[in-house]
Amino acid sequence: MSRIAPAHVYASRIDRVRAEMKATGVDALILSVGHDLPYLTGYHAMPLERLTLLIVPREGMPMLVIPRLEAPRVVPVPGVFETVPWDETDDPVALAHGLLGGASCVAVGDQMWSRFLVDLISHRPSTRWARSVTVTAPLRTRKDQAEIDALTAAAAAADRVAAQLHAGQIPLVGRTEAQVSADISARLIAEGHDKVNFAIVAAGENAASPHHHPGDRVIKRGEIVLCDFGGTMNGYCSDITRCVHTGEIPEDIARAYEVLKRAQAAGVAAGRVGLPCEEVDAVTREVIADAGYGQWFVHRTGHGIGMEEHEDPYMVSGNTEPIAAGHAYSVEPGIYVAGTWGMRLEDLVVATDSGPRALNHADHDLIVVDC
Ligand code: ZN
Ligand code: ZN
Ligand code: ZN
Repeated sequence: MSRIAPAHVYASRIDRVRAEMKATGVDALILSVGHDLPYLTGYHAMPLERLTLLIVPREGMPMLVIPRLEAPRVVPVPGVFETVPWDETDDPVALAHGLLGGASCVAVGDQMWSRFLVDLISHRPSTRWARSVTVTAPLRTRKDQAEIDALTAAAAAADRVAAQLHAGQIPLVGRTEAQVSADISARLIAEGHDKVNFAIVAAGENAASPHHHPGDRVIKRGEIVLCDFGGTMNGYCSDITRCVHTGEIPEDIARAYEVLKRAQAAGVAAGRVGLPCEEVDAVTREVIADAGYGQWFVHRTGHGIGMEEHEDPYMVSGNTEPIAAGHAYSVEPGIYVAGTWGMRLEDLVVATDSGPRALNHADHDLIVVDC
């Protein structure tokens, strides 16, 4: 599912992580399940009850503590880390504690199971604990060229599925949301994704619930259908939202959609290097509020995307982090009239020194799909 990059890619990421550790006073980094681990090693840990833990000391070779039965899945990256397998009757937390030695500040990945962390904390009463994002987020949020290429390819594959939706190749009327969701999912795979992460299909009043779970609601003629879908391709995620209308578009929906489209385009254009992330949110929100729909825009404008569907940086009021070249994120304002209808329009964007570059190009209009 995930491609292993050349060893120098991981070596340079480890170097940069160490520079960040030094700057922030972190002596060791410990990463279990979650995406910081594959970012630094190419290895994806399964979310098991057995401990997998990468220990990156500030100096010396990083060590991957791993259940012996999982060790054959590890692709060795010479010079980047060594594996320390543990046997079924070993205590892996005691092993990790020993390997951490005298480290006095330890940064922990967000996705380490508390059963291991709580145990490790009790072994080390005088250790100071921090979150690994303080050292990994500054790296992971700035995508390198290979990562941008992977995001671009995944977005193009998602665009092809959106084009099939627009062309009426995905029948809607008379099918359930769940059936359409399964159809979209199969098409994401057919277009090159390794895995589907979600395929929200929400018809009519269900579209007013932003993360609606597609169910047995049958899609009728004459309603809006919100489709928000994405998957993982070569280790990087896609995420796109398009709405279509089954039959003639009523005046109120047409008017709101024009506002949404303007807000989304303004949000994409606002992604200039150096501006705070919250500016992207402020720009879309202003367009929607000025048109009188402000109370119906109930979520942040966007999220960072990469190996994970939702990661730093978040395009939300209060996030003053400056947009940097290589930031990849969604711009997805929405208008949700509770119990009546909802709409969202979403593209992925990469910030570059010469301005924002949208990765999705599928038609932005509310297309009538009469089938
Ligand atoms: Zn979401
Ligand atoms: Zn989405
Ligand atoms: Zn999204």
